[in-house]
Amino acid sequence: MSKQTELDNVRGAIVGNNICSDLAAQATNLVMGDGNIDADIVFIGEAPGKKEDELGLPFMGAAGKFLNDMLSQAGMDRSDVYITNIVKYRPPNNRDPRADEKAAFLPYLLEQLQIIQPKVVITLGRHSMEYFLPGKKIGEIHGQPERVQIDGNELLIVPLYHPAAALYNGSLRQTLIGDFLKVPEIIKTLG
Ligand code: URA
Repeated sequence: MSKQTELDNVRGAIVGNNICSDLAAQATNLVMGDGNIDADIVFIGEAPGKKEDELGLPFMGAAGKFLNDMLSQAGMDRSDVYITNIVKYRPPNNRDPRADEKAAFLPYLLEQLQIIQPKVVITLGRHSMEYFLPGKKIGEIHGQPERVQIDGNELLIVPLYHPAAALYNGSLRQTLIGDFLKVPEIIKTLG
């Protein structure tokens, strides 16, 4: 079975199992992911916002534009990486995803990772970081790669601030850009 078919099956399972049916009822689209399904790098954000819900693709609004700019400064673009979120429907009024919503979507996120088999997972913000690096604080560990075992696979996790949080905060913005520009070197060390 091709990777794309397997990913389509994950989408089908989310719909078939009525995951977060209250969110689904208010959403326009289920937002699975975007980019290269053979990528070495997967970015994981929080949840779709208004624009993402309309278009069915992650990181399409202001935070997405900032993410695209950082990718380009780091010598990459969206076709070099895969981008997804932990929660795949837009929470109403862009509220934070709840713990039960993150838990409901987690098995499907892990299936996506099993299919794509990236070398590096870059978490954007604390919602996606907390599963991979439980108990850690983003302010203390941002930009520092850490090896973890997930489903029997070793993955390198790079926790970064969320682009939306850094967008209008000058010092956080510089910190995020600085961390982001270290990513290509981190990848090189993987061989
Ligand atoms: N913020 C996220 O975390 N994900 C998106 O897709 C868009 C904004």
